[in-house]
Amino acid sequence: MASRIVESCAAACCALLILLGTTSAEAALRVVATFPDVADMARQIGGDRVSVETIAQGSQDPHKVPVKPSFVTKLNRADALVVNGLGLEHTFLPALLEVASNPKILPTGAAYIDASVYVPVLEVPTSQNRAQGDLHPLGNPHIGLDPVRGKLMAKAIADGLTRVDPAGAASYQAGLERFTALLDRKIAEWQRLAAPLRGVKAVSYHQDLIYLADRFGLEMVGTIETKPGVAATAGHLEGLIDTMKREKVKLVIREVAYEMPLARTVAEKTGARVATISTLTGGLPGTRTYVDSIEANLKALLGAVQGGAPG
Ligand SMILES: [Zn+2]
Repeated sequence: MASRIVESCAAACCALLILLGTTSAEAALRVVATFPDVADMARQIGGDRVSVETIAQGSQDPHKVPVKPSFVTKLNRADALVVNGLGLEHTFLPALLEVASNPKILPTGAAYIDASVYVPVLEVPTSQNRAQGDLHPLGNPHIGLDPVRGKLMAKAIADGLTRVDPAGAASYQAGLERFTALLDRKIAEWQRLAAPLRGVKAVSYHQDLIYLADRFGLEMVGTIETKPGVAATAGHLEGLIDTMKREKVKLVIREVAYEMPLARTVAEKTGARVATISTLTGGLPGTRTYVDSIEANLKALLGAVQGGAPG
């Protein structure tokens, strides 16, 4: 008799655990993230409490994400939206939000989580005459390329998830601490790894490396684009090549979403090497997480600086 009770209790407990398991999976907070960087951070911080879907892919130009109807469905059902912020989504998100019929994830809503809020912004235009191009009107939005600023983004995401789901506060705090500790370990390693980059002069295709350069000591001398989002003209390229020759710039950084031939031409005319990096997580082969991507970028830069195979 006693053993039958134990057995039936065990069965009931099993059923309850299965039920709870199912319930918690179903109840996961539905998070939509605009970019893979902030998506990875939300997953690392949120763990099992969140299910995260991403809009853009890592190999895409963040300023030119093609809009698909499926994004509207995702946004319509979202409990929270995580964005990079600083206008990096401005070419696709406002239009999607307009039709997604989900007021809580609008920029004015409580479930709109802006990862940039704790990051001091660089290259803020002093005037709004669009002289710096149309793509960076709020300052340079490419904050995630620096992992120290990445920690501030993670904190903003943890705070946002807590605001949307207060019952998970302790869990998000623990997730943030775990992710920050991981980044701290990696940052110490990356600072040693990246020592040969210090003082190296470089040009990039797009004006997106200010934060990375600031962290690891690269000196950015110019861009292949005339201005952010404005294609190179022959006159601009001539000036850039002259500057590179004069300043002995031997590194051309080509972001994976931008075309290789022009970067290669500039490099050939100046005796520089090309390093291919990705401004978004997951844009380079073999990278999946934010940490993978920062590391792959550094290795690509070091490979070019130290004379490895051209990127
Ligand atoms: Zn940009």
